Amino acid sequence: MSTACQTPLETLILGSGPAGLTAAIYTARARCCPVVIHGLQPGGQLTTTTIIENYPGFVEGIDGNELMQRMQQQAERFGTLMVEGEVTRVELTKTPFRIWLGEECYQSRTLIIATGASPKMLGLSNEWELYGRGVSVCATCDGFFYKDKEVVVVGGGDTAMEEAAFLARFARQVTVVHRRDELRASPPLQKRAMDNKKIDFRWNTEVIGIHGDKQQGVRGLRLKNVQSGAEEDFACDGVFIAIGHTPNTDLFKGQLHMDQDGYILTKNGCETNIPGVFAAGDVQDPNFRQAITAAGSGCMAAMLAERYLDNLGDE
Ligand code: FAD
Ligand code: NAP
Repeated sequence: MSTACQTPLETLILGSGPAGLTAAIYTARARCCPVVIHGLQPGGQLTTTTIIENYPGFVEGIDGNELMQRMQQQAERFGTLMVEGEVTRVELTKTPFRIWLGEECYQSRTLIIATGASPKMLGLSNEWELYGRGVSVCATCDGFFYKDKEVVVVGGGDTAMEEAAFLARFARQVTVVHRRDELRASPPLQKRAMDNKKIDFRWNTEVIGIHGDKQQGVRGLRLKNVQSGAEEDFACDGVFIAIGHTPNTDLFKGQLHMDQDGYILTKNGCETNIPGVFAAGDVQDPNFRQAITAAGSGCMAAMLAERYLDNLGDE
């Protein structure tokens, strides 16, 4: 891929999750010559999970990595160009839009932002120091290391329930620590976790500290009951943080309109406040955040981009 800014691309897509790759399939078939920037997580969030049971068309479910590989292959089959790297800066005030990957600059006549979301952390002082040493955000990636160990999952949503169920395959005991007395997770995932004899729940409880150091890794947690205020030490070998995600929109602050949580505001499907810039998937969706909704909005963004390019003509 040329590094020069001279030749504007037709369509640049930021992100290779379900939204970005669906946008690529549609724009490639419409001959809008898409280039997709992978980002640091090629395939997006679904590559951190196992079986996807609710993506239509796969009766028995499909592995998250396999689904994303298939989407990429489908996009490439129609001529999509995939580029490794992470976007570090964008300039959207004039057209063609300019996008940098470090020193490398791209220009594009239209831009589809599908940068998704990243896991939230607890904000504890040593959680990054112990990251990869007992602190994790991905059971699929790290669960294998906790065979016959004691682990904690923090959170009460779908991700926390999936993480707990997956970890129960390896761990001796999994304890879900949740700050309220009811789960946010969907009923089937709640039931699966509650029916699992290896999974325990600590209700109305927050993690207020992590015990451990770089050499030994995580040794335990400091827990606090939010109702009684009582604190206790809880011995464990690992803690999986599953408390939701933050939209990856820092790059666009001051250029695109966003809500108070940083989700890009869209209208008519996927239009942003800048004509020619579209946003799709979790990056603009605080409500549904599903693979199928991300893919659906990727399709909408692609069709809007195609119309926008048609209207521009040869300008
Ligand atoms: P993402 O999948 O988040 O992809 C974002 C992409 O943007 C990535 O490729 C990333 O590398 C890229 N990116 C980020 N920053 C930059 C940058 N600066 N430059 C370039 N690229 C960048 N949904 C379901 O429907 N069914 C499920 O069973 C299911 N299971 C899940 C399990 C887990 C553990 C998690 C975390 C989520 C699950 N979801 C599930 C939700 C689903 O994964 C998301 O809704 C979906 O992946 C969102 O797609 P997206 O394309 O918007 O973003
Ligand atoms: P989520 O639904 O936002 O749930 C986050 C959980 O973490 C909530 O229970 C929340 O508590 C808790 N939490 C948030 N901040 C916290 C903090 N600082 N300290 C302690 N706890 C905190 O996030 P998610 O579970 O990652 O799910 C995100 C989206 O992906 C959802 O739309 C979900 O349906 C989807 N998803 C789907 C599947 C599936 O369909 N199989 C699997 C995974 C994810 P409160 O409940 O008190 O707010």
